[in-house]
Parts: sequence; C-alpha cells; structure tokens
Amino acid sequence: MVDDSLNRTGASLLIDALQKNGINNLYGVVGIPITDLARLAELRGMKYYGFRREDSAVDAAAAAGFLTKKPGVAMTVSAPGFLNGLTALAQATKNCFPLIMISGSSERHIIDLAQGDYEGLDQYNVAKPFCKKAYRVDRAQDVGLAVARAIRTAVSGRPGGVYLDLPADTIAQLNDDLGEKNMGVYKLVDPAPLQEPSDDAINRAVDIIKQAKKPLIILGKGAAYDRTEKQVQELINKTDIPFLPMSMAKGLVPDDDKHSAAAARSLSLKNADVVILIGARLNWMLSYGDAPQFNPEAKFIQLDIDATQFDSAQKISAPLQGDLTSILNKLVPALTATGYKVPSDWLDAIAQDTAKNDAKFAKRIKAGETNPEFGYYGAIEPINDYFQEHPDTYLVSEGANTLDIGRDMIGMKLPRHRLDTGTWGVMGVGMGYAIATAVETGKHVVALDGDSAFGFDGMDVETMCRYNLPITVVVINNGGIYNGVDNVVPDQLGPTTLDPTGRYDLIAKAFGGDNYYVTNYQEMKDTFATAVESGRPSIINVQIDPSMGKESGHIGNLNPELNLKPL
Ligand code: ADP
Repeated sequence: MVDDSLNRTGASLLIDALQKNGINNLYGVVGIPITDLARLAELRGMKYYGFRREDSAVDAAAAAGFLTKKPGVAMTVSAPGFLNGLTALAQATKNCFPLIMISGSSERHIIDLAQGDYEGLDQYNVAKPFCKKAYRVDRAQDVGLAVARAIRTAVSGRPGGVYLDLPADTIAQLNDDLGEKNMGVYKLVDPAPLQEPSDDAINRAVDIIKQAKKPLIILGKGAAYDRTEKQVQELINKTDIPFLPMSMAKGLVPDDDKHSAAAARSLSLKNADVVILIGARLNWMLSYGDAPQFNPEAKFIQLDIDATQFDSAQKISAPLQGDLTSILNKLVPALTATGYKVPSDWLDAIAQDTAKNDAKFAKRIKAGETNPEFGYYGAIEPINDYFQEHPDTYLVSEGANTLDIGRDMIGMKLPRHRLDTGTWGVMGVGMGYAIATAVETGKHVVALDGDSAFGFDGMDVETMCRYNLPITVVVINNGGIYNGVDNVVPDQLGPTTLDPTGRYDLIAKAFGGDNYYVTNYQEMKDTFATAVESGRPSIINVQIDPSMGKESGHIGNLNPELNLKPL
C-alpha cells in the first residue's frame, strides 16, 4: 500500500489535475488497476459513476463533453475493458465530442518484450487510429502535463476523443522528483483558443449570400456544441434565410420557428442555390451534397473549425475557418449591414410545401391514435405533446424506425436537448447518454429506444436505478431489428427477430425502478407524463404491432439487396 497522505502518487496528481480544470465527474468500470484510483477520486470530492460495461461509461463521458464543452472523462481497466471502451472513443471522435478515456495498463517494458502480463496489450498504439491523439504517462511527475495535453487536445480545434494510457506503475508511483522539470498540476490557460476568420473570407461569403435567390442554412451538431443559438437566431431573423436542422441541432432555433424548412426538406435541398453549412459536414447524412438531392448548381459556404473538412465532397466556394462563435460574430453583422433579405418567392415555395407535408403528416399522426395495429405514430405522439409543454426535458434517441419517426415527430424548442446515434448512426448509446445527461443537467431525461437498440446496453438500467436518476426509458417494442415478422426459413427464427412479447419494463422493476406497460395510444397518453414527472428511474414498454417498422428505417437504401432464394 502506498501512503498517499502527501498527495504525491500518480493517482492523486491525476485527480488533482482534473479537479483544477473543473472536471468533477468520472464515468467508468473499475477493476485492476484502477479500483483504488476511483475510491481516491471519491475521497477527494469527485463523483464517480460506475457502469456495467465500458462502452456505456465512455458514451456517458462523450455526452458530458457535448453538453458541457469540457472533456468528459471515462476510466476503464486494461485490455478487454479498454477494448470495450474503444468503440465509444472512436464514436466520440467521429461525433466531434471532447472526451478523455483513461485506461489502466501494463508497464511499457513488459508490453514491449511481450512478456505476457495479466490483460497485457499495447493499448497506447492500439488506440491511436481511433482517437484524436493518444498519450502515455510513464512518470508520476508528468501527470499534470499529461492531463493538460489531454484536455487541450480534446477541446481545441475540432473537438474529439483522447486516449490517456495510465500504467499501473504510474498510478502508485510517488512523485519524488521535485526538480525543475516537474511542472506539478495546473489549470490550463485558454484550453480552446478562439479562431477568427479573415475579413477577406467573410467578404467572400457575404458576396455570395447577397446574390442568393434561394439560400438555405444547414445547422449541424457543431453549431449546437459551440452554443451559437443567439448568433444563428439573429442571422435567421434578420435575413429570413430558411434553415434545416440536422438531428442534434434541433432546438438551436425552435423547430416551430417560421423559418424552419424541415417539413420541406427535399424541396429546399433540391432547389437551394446557396447552401450555408454551419457546423455540419457534407457526409452520408447529407448525400455528400450531390444531385439529385441537392441542386447541382448550388454554391456551398461552410463554417467549420477544421479546414481539412472543406472540399471533402463538394467545392466550397466560401470556406470560413474558425470557431463558429467567432465566425458568426463577424459574419452576421457583415451580412445584415448589406440589408440582405431572402426573396419572398423562395419563402413562399417552402411555406406551401411545408403546409402540404404538414397536412399529410398530421393525418398520419391522427390515424395513429386509433389504428387497430398500434404503431410508432400512436406511441410517439404523447411524447411530442409532452415536449411541447415541457421543452426543458432532454431527449436521447436510438433505433431505426423509432429514431427516424421520433426525429420527425418530436419538436424541440431548446438547444442541446436532443442526443442521438450521431455520425455513425450507432445503436447502444442510449443508456450512457441518458445517464450522463441526467447527471450533468439535473433535468428529466427521456430515452426513446427501439427494442433492438435497447438490447445493446440494457444492463445499465441497473446503473440508472442505482443512482436513482430521473430517466424514463421508452422501449418501443415491435420484437425485432427493424420489425418482428421476418422469418426467412419456416420453423426458424429469422435474423432480425427478437422477442415480440419481451417485458423490457420489468428490468426496471428488478432494480427498484418503476415499470409501465402500454399497448395503445390512450394508455401511452395516460402513462407518459406520470412516468416522467415522477422523477424516478422507469421503463415504459410500449408494445406495438410486430409488423410495424421498415427495414433500416429511413436508410433502407443503404442495404445491399440480394436475391434471397434457397439453392
Ligand atoms: P451533423 O451530423 O449534425 O451534420 P457533423 O458532426 O457532421 O454535424 O459536423 C459537425 C462539424 O462541426 C464538424 O465538421 C466539426 O469540425 C465542426 N465543429 C465542431 N465544433 C466546432 C466549433 N466549436 N467551431 C466550429 N466548428 C466546429
């Protein structure tokens, strides 16, 4: 046992360095060699949240990073724990969420000579392709510097995941070298320095927008992360440029704002002559900016912190590099000074298409209330009704049809209140994101999950109940991946089939949470608000018809189709 009464172990320095930089929550799964480190963190006033699997813990830290703009911190044990966390580290990096994943590891000399350590793996090198940067801290005296490097890397420039390798030796080592090179622990000065675009870059963008007859703003989760709601709303209100929010940018401008083109998505993308991307990438989710979804003549203006993003899929006619706040602080006054307003025929075209689509959608929702085959619309309508009345409720969502239909149905009024499967469209983020959201915001959280998605991390219901968090998990259960009626071979369960009568709600009961079971619209309407407002951990199993749900939801086109016939 190492006497830490002088606060000189690597573990102690790590905790001190995180706290000095305003990080007070840790998410993780303990075991060799980090168990005492977690205990010490609690003794020193940090809050440690223990999960049932590392990917949930790392997802939680990633969500914390997105919500707070400070890196979330997750801890795992070595090799298998590290590998379980690695997927979530990669996801956070893809999503541009700041995160530090710290894993206990074996000493370098044992790993490098392949001497066969307990859970021995060259984690430092394995992690490198999956994060922004990996660091390894071999001496206790370097812990302060290592934490500083990790924080700065996670939050500066394009945010992302950082891996910090922490050998067992360093955890218990005493920092005895008090020589000149020992920098101790310290608070970083300006961890994410602002970056302003040049006047030339701003003028170039203004010149293009000024000529636009059919401009469109696309808001991405980068804009939500950077807290640009004030600037974005001003830009839209002063110019009348319509906007399309990507799913995690919903609420940056309220979904019911008159400038929203969400219900006229196809029309607005197809016809826009100038597309202004604010913290959004022209990746698969935006069809790479290609025709026929986009107008082939469209000019693109992109606002992003990462200049290597420009021209990734289309020619960017006006690249604006910098943090979004600084860019918008220059762009909005420069553009509004020209007196630019969107031509009214463009707004009329969008308004007409919106009215037409809204009417169709309203019919579908209405039918969902009484449809004898209870489905997504009837299940989700009461959730939307609740969010309109209580916008300061957080929504986490995953699944295929559940995600897609929920995204279209549930209107958000506040920024950063929706977290979902993100850039990779990953299932299994729900519980980690929901738990961190409840912890970091103290608000009620709804985790809206398909039954398949919920299966990836359902055991963390125990975590939600153990910490008594105000989370309502809604499991929309159609008994399958996509749906529950697909058996290919008679007398054999099909690959997409799950248990259609599974009582997911009873998992909450097993751990002292509340459980609800609903089978129609009225029951859902009567139950949902009660569950959320109780402030108790709960699961609502929403039993919908197994035939409901399309293959891969709205992205079925990505499935290679085979001619499925027996030989
Ligand atoms: P979405 O999936 O919502 O379209 P993406 O994750 O594709 O959004 O895009 C987010 C973009 O925002 C990334 O290209 C990232 O570099 C950028 N970004 C993130 N944070 C900032 C910031 N603070 N300032 C500027 N750009 C940012």
